[in-house]
Amino acid sequence: MSRTDEILDKAPKQLFIGGQWVDAENGETDAVVNPATGQVIAHVARGGAADTEKAIDAAEKAFPGWAETDPDQRAAIMRRITDLIVSHADELAVLMTLEQGKPVAQARGEVLIGAESVRWYAEELRRIYGETVPGPNGQLFLVQKEPLGIVGAITPWNFPSSMITRKISPAIAAGNTVVLKPSPETPLSATALMALFKEGGLPDGVVNVVTGDARAIGGVLTGSDRVKKIAFTGSTAVGKLLFGQSADTVKKLSLELGGHAPFIVLADAPVDRVVTELVATKFRNNGQVCTSPNRIFVQQPILEEFTGKLIAAVKKVKVGNGLDEGVDAGPLIREDAIAKIDGQIADAAKKGATVATGGHRLTDGAFAGGYFYAPTVLTGVTRAMNIFYQETFGPVLPVIPFHTVDEVIDLANDTEYGLASYFYTKDPATIGKMSRKLQYGMVGVNSGAVAFPQAPFGGIKHSGLGRENGRQGIDGYVNTKFINLNYEV
Ligand code: NAP
Repeated sequence: MSRTDEILDKAPKQLFIGGQWVDAENGETDAVVNPATGQVIAHVARGGAADTEKAIDAAEKAFPGWAETDPDQRAAIMRRITDLIVSHADELAVLMTLEQGKPVAQARGEVLIGAESVRWYAEELRRIYGETVPGPNGQLFLVQKEPLGIVGAITPWNFPSSMITRKISPAIAAGNTVVLKPSPETPLSATALMALFKEGGLPDGVVNVVTGDARAIGGVLTGSDRVKKIAFTGSTAVGKLLFGQSADTVKKLSLELGGHAPFIVLADAPVDRVVTELVATKFRNNGQVCTSPNRIFVQQPILEEFTGKLIAAVKKVKVGNGLDEGVDAGPLIREDAIAKIDGQIADAAKKGATVATGGHRLTDGAFAGGYFYAPTVLTGVTRAMNIFYQETFGPVLPVIPFHTVDEVIDLANDTEYGLASYFYTKDPATIGKMSRKLQYGMVGVNSGAVAFPQAPFGGIKHSGLGRENGRQGIDGYVNTKFINLNYEV
């Protein structure tokens, strides 16, 4: 058996309920496809409503014990889980590449970032502070934080490990229990992670995993009064649906939704460095990232130089199977992702944009069978084109010229999204103005990086509600209780 076959063979393919691996009640399974080859690599249990109810039962049973567990003990378990994830990073990375497609080095980086989330919240749980407030007549007002109860977590395929650890870590750190529904494209990263949570000593039922029928599972999670919160990362369309479905039970929500990040290059920016950072940021996960630079605004005086260097750098991006040495960009996740990008490019070209490089699917030789797309630069992009407003989620860099700072702020903010934004300049006054005026949850100033375990991550407008990561990440997983303590009876 090859190493990859061994890794695939070992990954659990059942539901994880109450600490046990079980089949779906109806016995059904879903196929998992390798996007680099189009081949089915595994079949995973297709859970539904009944399985979700069972998972909620298990989470409900586990909740009182876990909520009462000494914080130091919770932290010790989470530290053990961190160490296990780190020591299994290589095989978790291969598994992720097999089902998701990203280059294995990037997959390993994601696994390790996920481990850092667990470590961060193992530390942070000791600092779930309350406060005291002076009250009238000698009364002491106490403000304390309590776990919510059961959290329903729903996660996407683009970061199949770190989107899970980002939710589970603050949830269990604060004493909650969880029912997780991972993406059907990438269930093995979730189940393999859960096997390590179990090995690390997490009590049965604290985290449960139901793979399968999204509507059925989502319907039960949002409709149940026993579930106190939905933590969702995914598309804005599904986020809005879950928001609506959660109204009846007045559930807490955190929604990490789509983005359409502007990447703004002012004339005084160091062109070579910015081109390098842009290409690295854009081709991370082949552009299938909510924070991916999707609209590249370049100030007129450097437009020609910048665009020329960008096209040259993009031509050097090596596309291939993520398991192969030296690959920068893997496949897209599915056939429909290719159709979406083709549509955006055709629309832009029809309305006057130029396809400077790329602009087509790759199908020859090793690309046959997979969902590969040529790294693409579009020039002369305007507001008239769909790509200006639609999230791309692929390897396309649309270049949009601008003249003034005020103009580019207006262009950058002309979107329903408000997740990540980036700009490059040396001028302190411009840094101050743009940092304030850009309507985004996160701003990278002379930096293409905005996601760190210790810093709050999240968007405004249609990009979502709440924050993950950082000290703020725990706020979404606790209730604030006020106690008026009167010492005199
Ligand atoms: P998606 O289609 O919204 O799916 C996300 C998750 O929701 C999947 O597990 C999906 O399962 C599930 N889902 C779909 N319909 C559901 C329903 N009716 N009830 C319950 N669950 C349901 O998004 P995606 O294509 O996987 O991920 C890409 C999107 O995620 C992009 O828009 C990207 O910007 C966004 N994203 C945002 C962030 C952030 O932090 N803001 C991070 C990463 C990704 P099924 O696949 O079975 O439908």
